[in-house]
Amino acid sequence: NPAKENYHPIKDAFWAKNDQVPYKALAQTLFCMEKTTKRLELLSIVTNYFRSVLALSPKDLIPSIYMLTNKVAPDYEGLELGIGDTVLFKSLAEATGSTLQKLKLEFQSKGDIGLVAEANRCNQKLLFTPKKLTVNAVFSKLRDIASISGNSSQSKKSDLIKSLLVSCDAIEARYLMRSLAGKLRNGLGEQSILVSLAHACTITVQSPKSDEDLIIDRFEKMRSNDQKIDEMKKILEKSNQILKKAYYQCPNYSVVINAILEHGLDNLDQYCKLTPGVPLKPMLAYPTKGIHEVLKRFENVEFSCEYKYDGERAQIHILEDGSINIYSRNSENNTGKYPDIIEFLQELLHLKKGKNNESEKEDVEIENRVTSAILDAEVVAYDIEKKMIQPFQVLSTRKRKDAASEEIKVKVCIFGFDLIYLNKESLIDLPFRKRRDLMYKYFPLVEGKMMFAVKMDSNDVEAIQEFLDNSIRDGCEGLMIKTLDDEAHYEISKRSHNWLKLKKDYLEGVGDTLDLVVIGGYLGTGKRTGLYGGYLLACYDPENEEYQTICKLGTGLKDNDLQVQFESLNKIKIDRPKSYYRINDTLEQPDHWFEPEQVWEIKCADFSLSPVHTAALGLADRGKGISLRFPRFLRLRDDKKPEDATSAEQVTEMYKNQQQMLNLNEKDKKEE
Ligand code: ATP
Repeated sequence: NPAKENYHPIKDAFWAKNDQVPYKALAQTLFCMEKTTKRLELLSIVTNYFRSVLALSPKDLIPSIYMLTNKVAPDYEGLELGIGDTVLFKSLAEATGSTLQKLKLEFQSKGDIGLVAEANRCNQKLLFTPKKLTVNAVFSKLRDIASISGNSSQSKKSDLIKSLLVSCDAIEARYLMRSLAGKLRNGLGEQSILVSLAHACTITVQSPKSDEDLIIDRFEKMRSNDQKIDEMKKILEKSNQILKKAYYQCPNYSVVINAILEHGLDNLDQYCKLTPGVPLKPMLAYPTKGIHEVLKRFENVEFSCEYKYDGERAQIHILEDGSINIYSRNSENNTGKYPDIIEFLQELLHLKKGKNNESEKEDVEIENRVTSAILDAEVVAYDIEKKMIQPFQVLSTRKRKDAASEEIKVKVCIFGFDLIYLNKESLIDLPFRKRRDLMYKYFPLVEGKMMFAVKMDSNDVEAIQEFLDNSIRDGCEGLMIKTLDDEAHYEISKRSHNWLKLKKDYLEGVGDTLDLVVIGGYLGTGKRTGLYGGYLLACYDPENEEYQTICKLGTGLKDNDLQVQFESLNKIKIDRPKSYYRINDTLEQPDHWFEPEQVWEIKCADFSLSPVHTAALGLADRGKGISLRFPRFLRLRDDKKPEDATSAEQVTEMYKNQQQMLNLNEKDKKEE
C-alpha cells in the first residue's frame, strides 16, 4: 500500500528484486490515488511507488510513468489510446461471458466502463488462476493496440484487449479499461510526475555503477530532526529544479529516465539536451492593454516590436540527416500537414533529403550552412500574387494530415521569429537579439515563402502606435514586444513577462479573452428547458494541478450553441465532481458535473474578488478567489487541451493589471 506512512520501498512492495513490476502494484497505486483528495498525499503515493520500482525493477520506471499518465508515447509521436466504446464493450462481453445489453445497462447506471469491467470480473467464476500481468507487458500491449490501423483493426484490437482482460483480476480490470478508453483521469499531470520522480530519485539513490549500492532512505536521520527538515526540503527542491530543467529541454521520459539510471540526477543537464526531433513547449507571451503598459513594463530595457501573425505556430526542426519535422504549439507532429514547407526548406537550405538519398546539392559550397536547427515561426496563409497574408480561416481549410504537396491549394509562408538551436548548439541562453541575428544570417529570405516577422526596434509611443496600426492594416493580430538583451533568453514552456502581446481587441475591455474549462451545467428553464441554461467554468492551476471555478456563464449563447453543447456535454457527464475540482461550499451546485474536456473562449467586462469562486485563491487575496463579471461565450477552442486553459497565475495577472490601470487612471484624473 503506497499510501502507508513510513513506507519502505522494499519491505512494503510485494514483488522481488529484479522481477518485473506486477500490474497489480500499479493498479493498487491508482486505487490509493483515487481515494485521496489531497495533493500532497497523491504525490507521496506516486513517490512511494516510484521508490519501489527504482529499488527493485528500475527498468520498469519508463512504462510505469506512461501508464500513470495514460499515455503510450510522448505526444509528438501521435500514438494515442482512447479506444472507442464499441470495441471496448465487445471485448468485455466476450472476455467475461456477459451480454452487451447487460454491460450497457450497467454502464448507464455506473457511468464508468472501469467499474463495469471490475464488477463483471468479480462475478466471473474462473476455472484457472490467470497468469499475472506485469506493467511492462500491459504497456507493450497497449502500445500495440494504439498502433493498429487499417483492415480489420477493430477485431485485432479486440483480440489484444481480450487477451489482457482474461488475465486481469477485478481491480486491474477497472484501470485497464479506463486506460484503454483514455479516461484514467487521476489528476496526475506532468508537474506531479516530475516532482514525484525527483523526490523518489533523491530519497532512494541507486549508484549507477553497482546494483548493490542502494541507499534506501537518504533522509532517514534527517526526518526525525526538526532542524534538518529545512535542509531536506532544500535538497528536494534542488532536485525538482534539475529534473524540470532537463525535462523541459528534452521532454521525453525515456531519455530522461535512462540518463538518471545511468548517471544519477545531479548532472542530468549534460545528458538531456535540446534535440532536433524532440519538440519543446514554446515560450508564450503576456497580454497587455496598451502601449503605456508596455512602456511601463519595459522601462529601462531595450525591446523590439514585431507583427503578431494570425496563423499557426510551427516549431521547425531540421535534423542532421536532412529530414525536417514540424510541431504545433502543443507539441503535436504537424509534419504531415506541411509537405510543401518541407520540400521548400530542403531545397532552400541544400539539405540532404533523408539518410540514403543524398542530394547532389550537398556538395555545393555555402556560407552559413544550416546542418541542424530549431526555428520558431508562424505559418500563415499567403497570397503570393497580391503579396498579402490571408486570414487564419483560410489556413484552417488545409488538410491536417497526410497532405500531398501537389494537391495543396492554400499556399503558406513561414514567418520566422526566433532561432532556438543551430548546428548542434542550443541557443536558448543567448539573448534574443543574438538569436535573431543568427536567424537572419542562416535562413535566406524568399518573398512569400520564407520571411521574418516584420520588426521595429523603438520605444517611441507614436512610432509604436503607427506600427500597431500598420500591423492591423497588414492583416495581423497586433504586436509582440520582446526584450532584446536583458532577460532575453528563450524561456521554454513559459508565459514570460519578457514577451508581451498587444492585440487589437485588447485595446478595449480586458487585456485578453480567457480559455476556460466547462466543469458543470445548470439545467435551463423557460426557453432553455431541456437544455443547459448556464454553465460553471474553471481555470486551471498547473502548480496544484486542479481546476478552480471562476464564474457561471449564461450569456453569449445562441440557441444552436445550446443544443450542440447539451449533446456533447451529456456524453461527458460524471456523477460527482473530480477530486481535483476546487469547489467552495457556498457555490450553487450545478445539476450536472462534467469531465474536464471542453475549453471555451470567454470574454468578460472585468474581474472582481469573489468569496465564492476559487480561481487564484490566495494569489491576489488571502481568503478570496477571482471571478469574471459579465462573461460571454465566444467559441469552443477544440485546439486546446484542458491543461492549456488560462492558468490561475494568468488570472491573477489580469486582475492585478486591471487594478493597476484603475489606479493609474485615478492618478491621471487627480493630476488633471
Ligand atoms: P492565443 O490564444 O492568442 O493564440 P496563445 O496562448 O496561443 O494565445 P500567445 O502567448 O497569446 O499564445 O501568443 C503567442 C502566439 O502568437 C505564438 O504561439 C505564435 O503562434 C503567435 N505569433 C505570431 N507572431 C508572433 C511573433 N512575431 N512572435 C511570437 N509569436 C508570434
